[in-house]
Amino acid sequence: MKLDAKALRYMSAEDFRVLTAVEMGSKNHEVVPTSLIAQIASLRHGGSHKIVGELAKRNLIAKVQNAKYDGYRLTYGGYDYLALKTFSKRGSVFSVGNQIGVGKESDIYIVANEDDKQLVLKLQRLGRVSFRSIKSKRDYLQKRKSASWMYMSRLAAMKEYAFMKVLYENGFPVPEPVDLSRHCVVMELIDAFPLRQVDEVANPAQLYSDLMDLIVKLAQHGLIHGDFNEFNILIKESGKPILIDFPQMVSTSHANAEYYFNRDVECIRVFFKRRFGYESLLYPKFTKHIEREFDLDVQVAASGFTKKHQQELEEYQEALGEDGDEGEDSDEDIESEEESEEETTEEPLNEMTEEEKAEERLRNLRLGNDMETESEES
Ligand code: ADP
Ligand code: MG
Repeated sequence: MKLDAKALRYMSAEDFRVLTAVEMGSKNHEVVPTSLIAQIASLRHGGSHKIVGELAKRNLIAKVQNAKYDGYRLTYGGYDYLALKTFSKRGSVFSVGNQIGVGKESDIYIVANEDDKQLVLKLQRLGRVSFRSIKSKRDYLQKRKSASWMYMSRLAAMKEYAFMKVLYENGFPVPEPVDLSRHCVVMELIDAFPLRQVDEVANPAQLYSDLMDLIVKLAQHGLIHGDFNEFNILIKESGKPILIDFPQMVSTSHANAEYYFNRDVECIRVFFKRRFGYESLLYPKFTKHIEREFDLDVQVAASGFTKKHQQELEEYQEALGEDGDEGEDSDEDIESEEESEEETTEEPLNEMTEEEKAEERLRNLRLGNDMETESEES
């Protein structure tokens, strides 16, 4: 999914009003009826019909026909625009530059804020991998009607922001989180290469022990990264490692905590042996090293990214993980299987969802004020 930021400039206030109406309608409708879009946007002279057509032409919304009515759904393109618009209003993103990363479930861009400071924009793309042919994914979707790409991507971004914030404020080597909207996080740009691209380091033994110390320190604070590998560790010129990519972090009280912990450790051992020919008899083991200092995990939960959110995201990630993603190439997402289903629960459309409230709380959170932190951390 390319982010076409240039066209953003040609969006009129009315265009955004209609796009926002589709987003609001999506809270209660898999497919938002055209009449409802018009009603929410409430433009004079019925102007929304024409704009709906234009938005669809630009792939910001997509027409969906089902038995009951014609309507539209938001696309990732449209969702991107809404997030960018919010960032630009807040001054956290002024311009969008090159794409620097494309993962299975995210896109990464360099952006700049109003002061021309370069930052990183990470857009979550959950559901990019098709669910259709995979049995456990089907079962999962049967159980969870609300598992839409929009919702899951938003949860992943909320989680990333919440963990980054808590880790950053507690002195861990992670990028500084800057802003959060919908499925997008803005963060500090780290001037460094992923370990994956580093062929030589001055002192492999030092780096190895720094990384193992980091795994242990996380565990002592109740956390396991869960994807601690050469792609998610950036190495600065000085040799200092910076950890990124947090949507899969788990608590040390997770049922499979030991498995995740050992896997993180093993990733580093295997990589160091292969890349640097470095092996050590010393490596941390889960049971021995869990002497809790305090629980960042609890702070994250208190921040607005709740246990319920965590659980919903985990279920999704597990459903995906089971079968692997080979042979999947469709850009279509989960909701296309569900779209014949009309939602029955009607809530006032302008009321904030739990997730929107949580998002707002997360952004406004200043750890020093809003929750207990321990200050002895370096
Ligand atoms: P994914 O979930 O797709 O793995 P990551 O957060 O790991 O996304 O980012 C993918 C790549 O983008 C990283 O390997 C790194 O090269 C680059 N990247 C991500 N965040 C930053 C950052 N804050 N500063 C510099 N590079 C980054
Ligand atoms: Mg990554």
